[in-house]
Amino acid sequence: MTATSRTNWSGNIDFAASALETPGSVAELQACVSRHDAVRALGTAHCFNGIAATRGVQIQVTGLDSRIDIDSTSHTAWVPAAMKYGELAKALQPYGFAVRNIASLGHISVAGAVITGTHGSGDANGTLSSTVRALELVTAAGDLVVIDESSPDFCGSVVSLGMLGVVTRVRISIVPAFDIAQTVIDDVPHAQVTENFDAIFSSAYSVSFFTTWGPENLGQIWVKHLADHSWRHEEWMGGTPATIKCHPLPGHDPIHCTEQLGVVGPSYERLPHFKLEFTPSSGDELQTEYLVPRTEAVQLLQGLLEFSPRIHELLHVSEIRTMAADDLWLSGASGRDTVGIHFTWKKVPEVFPLLPVIDEYFAPAGGRPHWGKLFDATALPDRYSGFGNFVDLVERYDPSGKFSNDWWRGVLGGG
Ligand SMILES: Cc1cc2nc3c(=O)[nH]c(=O)nc-3n(C[C@H](O)[C@H](O)[C@H](O)COP(=O)(O)OP(=O)(O)OC[C@H]3O[C@@H](n4cnc5c(N)ncnc54)[C@H](O)[C@@H]3O)c2cc1C
Repeated sequence: MTATSRTNWSGNIDFAASALETPGSVAELQACVSRHDAVRALGTAHCFNGIAATRGVQIQVTGLDSRIDIDSTSHTAWVPAAMKYGELAKALQPYGFAVRNIASLGHISVAGAVITGTHGSGDANGTLSSTVRALELVTAAGDLVVIDESSPDFCGSVVSLGMLGVVTRVRISIVPAFDIAQTVIDDVPHAQVTENFDAIFSSAYSVSFFTTWGPENLGQIWVKHLADHSWRHEEWMGGTPATIKCHPLPGHDPIHCTEQLGVVGPSYERLPHFKLEFTPSSGDELQTEYLVPRTEAVQLLQGLLEFSPRIHELLHVSEIRTMAADDLWLSGASGRDTVGIHFTWKKVPEVFPLLPVIDEYFAPAGGRPHWGKLFDATALPDRYSGFGNFVDLVERYDPSGKFSNDWWRGVLGGG
């Protein structure tokens, strides 16, 4: 048992767990899960809500075997649940492999990422969860089980919100290593983005649009393009390629951002916006994100312009990304090509009264809040066709509710 910080990364959640345990082997983990009545696994604590909290014991699996087991024939690898996603990406490179995509930073754990439906961007890229082929986990009864694609439970077991057990290893699809170059286009008018949405987001491997929804109605497009596709424009979508390195948050020093200005390098050093070597301190920010059907995205973005006076003052920045549909029951991209409309808020109390307003705006269009970020939503279960099946799965794997917590009860109750 170790003493450690009892808050999440942002510092807005006090975990209130009675202890944090870090078993040194799978057998110890099984004993630990069996011994306690209330348990919650903890990754790198980057979620902004109480999803990882428990009144019982938190468990980190950082003490388990840290080896990566690559199968170069099937292009898959078993990877440790606690490994940071960015470290995994870097470790695959010497073997000639890469992960398909990475979130905005690589500091989050593999298990924490896939369990909450974490994503990067790219029309042809699914969420990080969609690359999972199997999971190994310790269930509430202390059994070690593997759930793979042949199991009828599989589609409910990946974006599991930590409700089915403590994940020890994950088998993911990997791809041949590839290079990326990153270019930032500055001062792009909002109208260009809504008028040319498909052209912009299909223009490269991964594309993000950043804006503060300020009165100037301008933003930045971050284009991560494959190195063998030339991507050169003097002027594009009303903006101009930046000639100096940029940070997505206006006025911030870009020193910790990944390489830009079209310089080619390994994908693991370009797909995230932030360098892995940079250790982010406790963040002075909160985050909310809605995953919306791609078919609704342009209209929703146009409507947000009317919101902008209300949200601009509270925002550090907002990011728009795309992702391909998957078939995971609780994924934000389940059953539809999806656009992520994300808000990085200032860490101020005024954000909280806005959360139900934001939900009321996105819900009628099928918006689903990111599981790892802040939201205040009603009738959440209705937004997923597989939600009822997931509840059945949870009852089967965890009949006593060992992994349940206040956050989950809020989701079931609508809040
Ligand atoms: C600065 C910042 C940038 C971000 N960027 C993005 C982004 O680009 N895209 C995006 O989609 N999201 C993003 N997020 C959100 C982030 O990806 C999710 O919050 C993710 O879940 C964090 O992983 P974690 O390891 O910190 O998980 P935690 O917060 O520690 O846990 C999340 C959930 O996973 C469960 N869990 C963790 N480990 C295990 C395990 N071994 N077994 C079972 N359950 C487990 C926990 O119980 C909890 O339910 C960002 C967050 C921050 C703070």
